[in-house]
Amino acid sequence: DYIPGGYHPAYIGEYYKGKRYKLVRKLGWGHFSTVWLAKDTEDNKHVAMKIVRSAKNYRETAIDEIKLLSKLNHTDPEHPGHQHLVKLLDYFDHQGENGVHICMVFEVLGENLLSLIRRYKHKGLPIKFVKQIAKQVLLAMDFLHRLCGIVHTDVKPENVLLELEDVEQIVQFLENAQKQRKEMLKRVHSTRVSSASLGDQTSPIDISASIDEANDFPRTMSRKGRLSRRQTLITGSQPLPSPLRSKSNSFFVSPLDTNQTLPGTTPFRGSVSNFDMEDLSDNHSRVLESLSSISISAEQRLHQWEPPKAEELADDDILRVKIADLGNACWIYNHFTDDVQTRQYRAPEVILGAQWGCSCDIWSVGCLIFELLTGDYLFDPTEGRSFSKNDDHLAQIVELLGPIPQELIAVSRNGKLFYHSDLQRLRRIKNLKPWPLQNVLMEKYKFSETDAHEITDFLSGMLVPDPKKRMDAAGLSNHYWLNDCNVEGYVDREVGTRGEDISGWYKEVRLHHHH
Ligand code: ATP
Ligand code: MG
Ligand code: MG
Repeated sequence: DYIPGGYHPAYIGEYYKGKRYKLVRKLGWGHFSTVWLAKDTEDNKHVAMKIVRSAKNYRETAIDEIKLLSKLNHTDPEHPGHQHLVKLLDYFDHQGENGVHICMVFEVLGENLLSLIRRYKHKGLPIKFVKQIAKQVLLAMDFLHRLCGIVHTDVKPENVLLELEDVEQIVQFLENAQKQRKEMLKRVHSTRVSSASLGDQTSPIDISASIDEANDFPRTMSRKGRLSRRQTLITGSQPLPSPLRSKSNSFFVSPLDTNQTLPGTTPFRGSVSNFDMEDLSDNHSRVLESLSSISISAEQRLHQWEPPKAEELADDDILRVKIADLGNACWIYNHFTDDVQTRQYRAPEVILGAQWGCSCDIWSVGCLIFELLTGDYLFDPTEGRSFSKNDDHLAQIVELLGPIPQELIAVSRNGKLFYHSDLQRLRRIKNLKPWPLQNVLMEKYKFSETDAHEITDFLSGMLVPDPKKRMDAAGLSNHYWLNDCNVEGYVDREVGTRGEDISGWYKEVRLHHHH
């Protein structure tokens, strides 16, 4: 895709906007862009730079994204949700060999919530974190919906990113690791070690340990494949940078990105106790390969950190997040498409092809919070031989939450495709097995009755099939379940409000044209 209209073949060290930004390393990529860590030489700090593919449609989408992001920047920064949305710092055109690329500059953020869910092995995050995330996401949604007039339309774990406590410290840390890696490879190339033996099945980390000993290298690695949370890294003197605000400052590292596979991480299996580099011939390259995989282990360790368990959390530990990727967002008075939301987070009105608005984000927030609590999708529809994904999706919604109001089905574009003319029975799925949310939480996920009851009380305000009756973000942010969550910020609004005064809450706002 590095062709005309495609990605810009960016490289480390390349300058942008004159000499202002210098690329440091790749952070990630998406359908529209590649995203780079860059040094802002004017403000002397690091930023994330999104370089958009140059083809016309990508360009146009990017221009919309910039307009939406600019609206956030120009809307009341005092609102407590403002700080939980990604911030556009700069944007400009860059002339490359594959065309003109729009570049957007953001603050550098950490991992997304999907990778956090994975780190908790799909068993759910500690409730305390979920409450904190819920509160921040709801405050952000209130800001977006009520103050900016924007619908995000793609709320999901991948689009909520952890804030980094100290970007410069983490960048420094990775740069040191890289230096160390280069240094190490240089020394391995030039060092003779006596008598080689290859064969034992062991992890690459063990190999490095024995090489360290043989060569009297400074001990850089632990013998263990995994880094325990409280260990210090690399030189043994540099503590792990922590994005968690915690007095104890004892754990929690976040890498800049975990989506990308690191080069050279393929583990070489086999141990090297003592060996002579010059005798290795065939194995030489494999050994070097394994060494390069070891020497990036600083990064790997960042990738391997284990998140804290509930009982290890201090009272003032707080996990801060930001909503990112406004790439699919739209205006309450200008929906760019009706084909919105990622499947698992898609609201019933969108599935049915009825009118939708801000409240579709609230549905997604409900799905997101359930997923954070349990590590599983709330709805994960699949296609069968006799029914579609949409059929299954609607059936799952009904099983969990009860019937979808007939009035909604009646006014929807596709209702008749899914439902018999009674607007009650699905055409292709009979025998629904009701399993209400509270029971699911207790029976499948083993929450206590109290927890399950409270969670259900909270989530059922969001998981209202009728988009008009769904509770709004600010009201929900004051729900009692979030009382003890330790997140600052309050919007004066009663729990239970249902977007009555929010324009575009459940349908696109028509602009009046004066002729
Ligand atoms: P999509 O296909 O999701 O629409 P996209 O091309 O619009 O992709 P983004 O989702 O904005 O791009 O970014 C792609 C990836 O780059 C993200 O998944 C993330 O890993 C990384 N990334 C984006 N923004 C940042 C940031 N501010 N800080 C750190 N990493 C980021
Ligand atoms: Mg994205
Ligand atoms: Mg995008």
